[in-house]
Amino acid sequence: MLDIAIIGGGPAGLSAGLYATRGGAKEVVMFERGMPGGQITGSSEIENYPGVAQVLSGVDFMQPWQEQCFRFGLKSDQKNIQRISKEDSHFVIHTDNNETYKAKSVIVATGGTPRRSGVKGEDKFYGRGISTCATCDGFFYKGQEVGVLGGGDTALEEALFLSEICKKVTVLHRRNEFRAAPVTIAKAQAKDNIIFKTPVIIDEVLGDNNGVTGVQFTNKDTKQQETLEISGLFIFVGYDVNNQILLQEDGNFLCAMSEFGEAIVDLNMKTNVNGLFVAGDMRIHAAKQVVCAAGDGARAALSALAFLEHSK
Ligand code: FAD
Ligand code: NAP
Repeated sequence: MLDIAIIGGGPAGLSAGLYATRGGAKEVVMFERGMPGGQITGSSEIENYPGVAQVLSGVDFMQPWQEQCFRFGLKSDQKNIQRISKEDSHFVIHTDNNETYKAKSVIVATGGTPRRSGVKGEDKFYGRGISTCATCDGFFYKGQEVGVLGGGDTALEEALFLSEICKKVTVLHRRNEFRAAPVTIAKAQAKDNIIFKTPVIIDEVLGDNNGVTGVQFTNKDTKQQETLEISGLFIFVGYDVNNQILLQEDGNFLCAMSEFGEAIVDLNMKTNVNGLFVAGDMRIHAAKQVVCAAGDGARAALSALAFLEHSK
């Protein structure tokens, strides 16, 4: 029986592993379906982690996190976890090849995945002018002109964020109606440097060896084609929370979830199920930043240690 099973090896899972093992838990296993490091390993640079003044690639940035955890006894197992269930007073971790592990407590840190739009040139320029995170990358476009693809709350909120940093923000959306809340639409429309292009479809992201230089798009009503010169395109076409492992055979989630599929936790990362903790981008109101995910992971581990102590 494991003391603590951690699912996911991103910043939240690794920080949980560090605090759990260094805090004295003996049997702690982190289950990660790929290489540890999480979403940030897909980024070419991170420059907003406090205390790390160097600008590093996501892969280089995450490398020491693993080394540090493993030094304190965290075990890592490359497994794709399919489901977590609760039986009596313990949890059962089910892998996708029908293995099971028992654990006294579980920390879920499976993060999320920004959706791709499928626009031509998206893969080619992802990380080279195409971004899915304004907080992370907006600063790289200070004083420049950028585009935002999408018409939901995220797209318009991030357009507002970018409008404080960038010279001009052009929102490109495929319909004239926006999904975003009316108050957010009004705020964005009131900004002089936010321009709306609707109903448009991006035909292609244009660029060169240095990255994005523009987008070519077509107005769906007039069929008129236009080219917009921008140095960055921010894509916000939805976000998948990696919550499937909490889904039970009866179709319900193991713990209480928000309407957006995130786990509801308190400030200690506790769910409404005793012994089950959720940290990082998988939890409600996540800031979706590495520093926040790391803090969550540490907090979840401290809560799990307290839970184990009280259950003795
Ligand atoms: P994740 O990093 O998503 O890690 C979750 C891990 O769980 C993954 O490794 C995944 O493989 C694993 N997993 C998922 N499901 C399963 C399963 N069923 N079984 C086993 N393993 C599973 N933040 C910043 O602070 N600064 C930045 O500059 C920045 N840039 C970014 C650039 C990009 C391109 C992206 C995509 C994100 C960026 N972020 C940045 C956001 C940051 O990466 C996330 O907020 C952070 O990684 C969340 O950490 P997490 O541990 O909660 O989840
Ligand atoms: P979303 O609401 O699903 O919006 C995605 C947007 O992207 C939609 O406008 C959609 O267009 C567009 N889109 C989808 N696929 C596309 C594609 N392939 N090409 C071009 N455009 C595409 O996603 P979200 O904005 O990330 O929000 C997710 C949920 O979180 C929502 O329920 C939202 O309300 C919520 N949220 C709330 C807040 C808040 O309350 N402050 C903040 C952020 C998010 P269509 O409209 O035509 O489908």
